[in-house]
Amino acid sequence: MSAAVRVALVALPFAAVFLLIRWIGSGEAERWRARVEAQFPDAVVGVDEDALIVVAEDVATARQAGALVRGFRDALAARYTDLLGAPRFERMVVVVFPDVESLQAYAGAAARLDRGAAGNLHGYTDPLHGAMFVPRDAIEVLRHETVHWFMETARDVTAPSYSPWLSEGLAQLFETLDPDASPPRPPRIGRLRLDGLDVDRLIRIEDYGEFLLDGPRNYEEALALCGFLFERRREGLEEYVKAERRTASSRPVLFEDIFGASGEAFRRELAEFVAGRR
Ligand SMILES: [Zn+2]
Repeated sequence: MSAAVRVALVALPFAAVFLLIRWIGSGEAERWRARVEAQFPDAVVGVDEDALIVVAEDVATARQAGALVRGFRDALAARYTDLLGAPRFERMVVVVFPDVESLQAYAGAAARLDRGAAGNLHGYTDPLHGAMFVPRDAIEVLRHETVHWFMETARDVTAPSYSPWLSEGLAQLFETLDPDASPPRPPRIGRLRLDGLDVDRLIRIEDYGEFLLDGPRNYEEALALCGFLFERRREGLEEYVKAERRTASSRPVLFEDIFGASGEAFRRELAEFVAGRR
């Protein structure tokens, strides 16, 4: 028996096992491609890794999406699970639809796409399956959706979701984080154009439809409030987010209990914080 044949005989079982593992891994990616096929017939599996599956219209787009979320997700996992929670899923699934229409068709007419403060970015996170969906022309919204993915897959999905101000405030706050900065740079707070932020009004909005009615204002105020709590009340914020992961009852009361928000000192400090960011 020649040396080449002996090497082949030894290597063959290893190669078979390797291919089998690849095939099993690809099975889930292929199931995702098939799942979106009705609304997205040209979908291809562009990234198929242990921790990340990306389905998009071509491999280049999928790789671009993968590059956007990979390092960012790892940075959140390394530094912010105390605040955002620990995701239930090892693997993140991303589908980049060709346009908003096909994404909306997949999500269902009743699903509200996350519009973001700018109003023109659309995304959608499915916490049951650990998947995120964005349209091609808003691929950068993946960072924002990754924060939602983190928080949503860390909570008990049978419980109601987070308050809109908390969910959207933290998503906006963390989407600006530079994952390569060490120690992490304080997150940039967006341009604030706030005239008397009414905390009481904001935290009482529990319905997403109502939150979106005055979207630009509510997104901006949510960012300001979360930015303030993150920088000045970090421990209280961690305690509050943890509580919202578990319960939906009396959230305004809970907010008041943890932050003492009706006190004059809280209002003054918040007003100063906002003014200082103009
Ligand atoms: Zn959002």
